Amino acid sequence: MALTDSEQLAFAVAEAKAGRAKGGIPIGAALIVDGEVLATGHNQRVQLGSAIHHGETNCLENAGRLPASVYERATMVTTLSPCDMCTGAILLYKIPRVIIGENSTFYGGEDYLRSRGVDVVVLDDDECIQMMSDFIAAEPALWNEDIGESD
Ligand SMILES: [Zn+2]
Repeated sequence: MALTDSEQLAFAVAEAKAGRAKGGIPIGAALIVDGEVLATGHNQRVQLGSAIHHGETNCLENAGRLPASVYERATMVTTLSPCDMCTGAILLYKIPRVIIGENSTFYGGEDYLRSRGVDVVVLDDDECIQMMSDFIAAEPALWNEDIGESD
């Protein structure tokens, strides 16, 4: 039986929590292909001192090189509305479906994704909202750095 959207989101939430437990930013992602988890990842800005390892891009990196035919069957699952960089990565690889945990603490490139034909589902997940709200309240400067804002 195929995984529900909420079941797919759970893989991304687990990654977000794992990242936070190591002092990182709690955003996680999973790449689902043909009903299976191909890769997961989480934001590693703090852990790796990285400018580009967001949840989604770290997940794509963990998936490694894939042929276009695999991306074309994939769903990108992310706990938070994807930023412009991650939106671009989703479009670059022509990933046709995106499941988003929440978009109330940050609203990313969803409108652009939809305008390019991507099926975008927002689950308004309470746990994702709480996770990001707690993080932003605790570490506002780190959060602004992650989304390219000055303090
Ligand atoms: Zn991003």
